[in-house]
Amino acid sequence: MTSAMRSVSKGFRRGRGEGGERHDPYRRDGKRAGSGCCSGCGAVYQRGRWTWRARPYAARAMECPACERIRERTPAGILRLEGELGKRREELLGIVRNVEERERGQHPLERLIVVRERRDGLYVETTGVHLAHRIADALRRTFHLSATLDFSPGADLLRVRWPAPRA
Ligand SMILES: [Zn+2]
Repeated sequence: MTSAMRSVSKGFRRGRGEGGERHDPYRRDGKRAGSGCCSGCGAVYQRGRWTWRARPYAARAMECPACERIRERTPAGILRLEGELGKRREELLGIVRNVEERERGQHPLERLIVVRERRDGLYVETTGVHLAHRIADALRRTFHLSATLDFSPGADLLRVRWPAPRA
């Protein structure tokens, strides 16, 4: 199966929902039994949650969903900032990094996959939807930008734009 196909099938799975619970895209494998420790990043899995706690005794080695998404390059959130970065470049990239650091500290599954500067803006992929939304919010507030949410297969796609130039 190609990774593109996998991300499409994950997209369908995401929409199904379970028992009216808030759907959690990165728990797509369902809860696993016992405790474990991600061999990629050291996150600890215990009682159905991933945390940065100390590795428990007898924890199995496993891969956390964030490391899996990074390895397979299947983002849960995509953020596109449209427009030249110009003088705001440093500040903008600083915000992206700061928001990630803060979110990742509390939620091990919320991480950046790539941050890519393009001629016409910035492209960011995240392992969790929450992080993409937090970054979009921070950029919106700081620079007074407009943001819209679209959907692409398997991921939330957030578009953030500079205000339209006055004619
Ligand atoms: Zn990991």
